[in-house]
Amino acid sequence: MALRIYNVLGREKQDFVPLVEGRVGMYVCGPTVYDEPHIGHAKNYVAFDVVVRWLRKSGYKVLYVQNITDVGHLRDSGEDPIQIVARRTQSGPMQVAEYYARSFFDSMDALGNIRPDISPRASGHVPEQIKMIETLIEKGHAYVVNGSVYFDVASDPDYGKLSNRRLEEQEENVRVAERSEKRNPEDFALWKYAEPEHILRWDSPWGEGFPGWHIECSAMAKKYLGATFDIHGGGIDNLFPHNESEIAQSECANEAPFARYWMLVGSLTVEGVKMSKSIGNTLTIQAALKRYRPETIRYFMQGVHYASPFDFSDEAFEAASKGWERIANAVRLTRKMMNSAAPGDDGSAILSVVETAKADFAAAMDDDFNAPIAIATLQGLTREVNTLLNGGAAVGLDVLKAIDAAYTDTAGDVLGVLPGHDAAGGDGAREAALVELLIAMRAQARASRNWAESDRIRDELAKVGVVLEDRADGTVWKVN
Ligand SMILES: [Zn+2]
Repeated sequence: MALRIYNVLGREKQDFVPLVEGRVGMYVCGPTVYDEPHIGHAKNYVAFDVVVRWLRKSGYKVLYVQNITDVGHLRDSGEDPIQIVARRTQSGPMQVAEYYARSFFDSMDALGNIRPDISPRASGHVPEQIKMIETLIEKGHAYVVNGSVYFDVASDPDYGKLSNRRLEEQEENVRVAERSEKRNPEDFALWKYAEPEHILRWDSPWGEGFPGWHIECSAMAKKYLGATFDIHGGGIDNLFPHNESEIAQSECANEAPFARYWMLVGSLTVEGVKMSKSIGNTLTIQAALKRYRPETIRYFMQGVHYASPFDFSDEAFEAASKGWERIANAVRLTRKMMNSAAPGDDGSAILSVVETAKADFAAAMDDDFNAPIAIATLQGLTREVNTLLNGGAAVGLDVLKAIDAAYTDTAGDVLGVLPGHDAAGGDGAREAALVELLIAMRAQARASRNWAESDRIRDELAKVGVVLEDRADGTVWKVN
C-alpha cells in the first residue's frame, strides 16, 4: 500500500506523491526560544520525528528542516517574548534565545528525537527575509508605512485557503497604532519599525527594524527546500495566522505553489485544561523526564493519532506505560534468550505471525502515520511472543533473531520506544550499551551476594549521573 497523508490543505486523505521520486523535502515550524520546552512541544516534535523515521524506513531520502524562532515572534500585545525575558533576567535577547535553544535541543535529544538536518535561525536569515519582502513590495503584495511593511491580504485571492478563515476575529488584539497604519485590519507585518527600546534590530531599505514572525518560515523554507516542496508540518495552534500567512507570502513572492502536503499536530491539554503559566499546569519536558522514561513518554503520546487532541494525565500515563512494559519485557526476554539459545528454527510457527505483524504495522503507518494502530499490532504480536517464550519449549536462535529484528524495525527504528535503542546510533547507543553492561555485571554481583560490589557499581554510576532503579521486572536506568 502506498503512503497516504491527511492533507490539511484540501482536508482529505491523499496519496503521497513526492515532487522528486525517492526524495522528501519537509519543513516543520520550530519553537520560539524564550522558555523551557514543555510536553506540548514533545507531542509536536515526537510526531514529526516518527514521520521522518517512517519516511526514511520506507526508502525516502528526507531533508528535514526545522527552524528556531529567535526574533520576530510578537505577542498579540505587540511585545517580543524574548525581549521580555531578557529584561527580566537582565541579559541580552540573543543570550536568552541561545540558552533556550540549547535547552530545546537537549530536551529533544533526551526524548530520542533525531535532530533535523538543518535547524536554521530566523536571526541568521534576515537578508533572505528582506529580499522576499522586497519582492512582495515589487509585485504589489506589500506596502510600506512608517518604517514597517505589511502584507496586503486583499492582493491575494487565495488568502485563507488553509484555515478557511480571515483575521477579523483576532483584530481586537492588535494595537491601536498598528491598526491605524494598516490598509486592512487583516494585513500582517512583514517588517516592523524598531522602537528605540527594541534591542534586536537590523538595517533595511525601510530603516532599522526587525522581521515579522511569519516571513522567516517562508524565507528559510525557500532557501533550503525551494519554492515548492513536499511536506509542511506544524501544530494546529499555529494554523492561523502563522501557517496561512506563510502560504500567502511564499506563493505571492515565488509565484509557485508552496508546500504540497500540510500536516498539523493536534493540541495538548493537561487533565482536560490547556497548559498555561497563569494556571500553573505547564509540564516541562525536563520535569516530565524526571518522572517518566523517555520511551514511555513517546509511547504514551503515540497512543493517539498525531492529528487528534491529546490529554496528558497521570492515570492515562500509567495505563499507557503498562502497555509499553509488555512490549519492552518481551523484547528484553527475547534478547536474554538469544544469549543462550541453540542455533536453529525451533518455534518457527511464530514467524508467520511476525510477518503479518510487520505488514500490519507498515499498513498502519502508511495510513497517515497511524501510530495507535501500529502499536495495537505490536501488542498483538507481543501476546503471541510471550506465549511462545514462556511456554517452556525450546526456541531456536534464528527464530529469536527474527522476533528481535521485527521489534527493532518497528518499535525501535520507527516509533523510537525501545529502551536503550537509538536508531541514529552513535554516542547514545554506545552509552546505553555500556550502562546495560554495568547493570548486567551488577546483577551478577547480586546473584553471588556480593553486595559491596553491587553497591559500588550503583554509586559509581550515580556519580556520573546515571541513576539505577530496581523494579520487579529488572533494573532500569535514567540519566539525571
Ligand atoms: Zn513557521
